[in-house]
Amino acid sequence: MSAAEVYAGIDIGGTTTQVLLCTPDLSVLDRAEVPTPAAAGGHAMMGAALDALRLLLTRGYGRLLGVGVGAAGVVDTGTGRIVVASDSFHDWSGYPVTATIGAALDVPAYLDNDVNAFLRGEVACGAGAGEPDLLGIALGTGVGGALWLDGALYEGPNGAAGEIGHVPGFGELPCTCGGRGHLETLASGRSIATRYAERTGRDATARDVADAAGRGDPDAIAVYDAAAAGIARAALVTAGVLDVTTVVVGGGVSRAWSLLEPAIRRALTAEPPVSGRPVRLLHARLGSDAVALGAASLARTELAADRTGMASAS
Ligand SMILES: [Zn+2]
Repeated sequence: MSAAEVYAGIDIGGTTTQVLLCTPDLSVLDRAEVPTPAAAGGHAMMGAALDALRLLLTRGYGRLLGVGVGAAGVVDTGTGRIVVASDSFHDWSGYPVTATIGAALDVPAYLDNDVNAFLRGEVACGAGAGEPDLLGIALGTGVGGALWLDGALYEGPNGAAGEIGHVPGFGELPCTCGGRGHLETLASGRSIATRYAERTGRDATARDVADAAGRGDPDAIAVYDAAAAGIARAALVTAGVLDVTTVVVGGGVSRAWSLLEPAIRRALTAEPPVSGRPVRLLHARLGSDAVALGAASLARTELAADRTGMASAS
């Protein structure tokens, strides 16, 4: 038997870092999850991820071909550096992620924004497998978006394409980004909790609000209905402009899918794009593995492109 080959995917989140080892067809072989030492700085964060990956590599699954990393914030995919990180990450802006991994493990490494990686994962081996044109919406603490057009991730000239969580037209409420009336003010976990507290005076997490809605609490239902209406609007606007056929919705808030889905679907059916074809609605399938698997798929895609490039250049 020839030696097996493996890829690694790393998801560096605000609280935990997840590392997956997978086969070239993205079947997960092994995994590790460690706390992200965000307050201790970039070297500590990268060190924790590398330690976890090295441990998995000692288990003999095969030769590591490449590493993909999905990280929150604005990243420069070309240089493999973090450009802008949230305040909770110490000494992370500017950090050379791919160079550090390359030096430590002597393999090629690739970096992407976590929401882009989420969509890459869902397209590579999740709910959107094989779909050429999608909008991805990740409903977490905030609301992230990503675009997959004509079979490839579309980053845009500033790396910010698909950021549907932060365009105006979704009401008047102030957003965490400093803007107003963004989808994030309706559909993020934080906003769902805030909107419910405004209506009822009660502190609750987004999950608590979902539970309350399940018990028939009208305020909780109204908050989730507003989130669903916003998500549908985001999908309709994007489909109208770019002719994406499909929207895939993931992230922790989407666990309340039974609350969100009927209202999103109703709105999508009621207002089809000018093509007359209603936007397809999919619930993300990879759960918390999506970012790491998407990062691994990025490494796979880039390595294949490098090899093709080398072959045609020689
Ligand atoms: Zn915003």
